[in-house]
Amino acid sequence: MGEVQCPTCDWAFEVAEAPEWRPRKCPSCGERLLVRGTEVQLVPAPAPPSPLSQADDRELTFVEHTIPAGNPAALWSYYLGLFAVIPCLGIALSLLALDQGKKGLDFANQHPEKLGKMHSIVGIFFGVFWLATYVVILVLMCVSR
Ligand SMILES: [Zn+2]
Repeated sequence: MGEVQCPTCDWAFEVAEAPEWRPRKCPSCGERLLVRGTEVQLVPAPAPPSPLSQADDRELTFVEHTIPAGNPAALWSYYLGLFAVIPCLGIALSLLALDQGKKGLDFANQHPEKLGKMHSIVGIFFGVFWLATYVVILVLMCVSR
């Protein structure tokens, strides 16, 4: 019999001396060890996923949600809807935003992994909003004449 010390918790315990490496579990902390005679080493644990790569994954997902690269129609709709604020151009832009928004929404529904649903909805919302605004303005201009 020999005595080895757990490298993790320093707990000393008895082992049967053997000429080859044998797996043991530390009786105190449960650490998986390899023991040969009175030598002891840790069983190499599988490397845990590093916090860095996890952060990268999260960031990538965040970017994908922010910019639906796989759904250009949704992106077009979003920006056309935003730029529909420009007078005169606004009517054409809001119509385009509605058109692209519908395409983007259909695409997002068929390919849920491509995202872009929110951008399409925002684009359609702005498209409807600005179109209604310009129609009201045109009607008021006609009426006031
Ligand atoms: Zn231990």
